[in-house]
Amino acid sequence: MSTVKKEPATRYCYHCRTHHPVEEMKLLVTKTGSRWRCIKSIEAVRRSKAERDQYGREVSAANQSEASSRARILNKIQSEG
Ligand SMILES: [Zn+2]
Repeated sequence: MSTVKKEPATRYCYHCRTHHPVEEMKLLVTKTGSRWRCIKSIEAVRRSKAERDQYGREVSAANQSEASSRARILNKIQSEG
């Protein structure tokens, strides 16, 4: 029998807390041991801080507008009730 069953080679990514294909993973050696982390998340960290700050602002702005629209809907319900 020459059939080689290809097993799904995945590793647990401590950053995303999920499994990724091993080709997308990188083994990082830290003081506490070695951990697998996906290249995608490492690349994301490498991006400029400015970009991340911009993203953070967008997220908090979105959260704020969502919160205020939710408050508006609650007020509407209460005034109609
Ligand atoms: Zn990951």
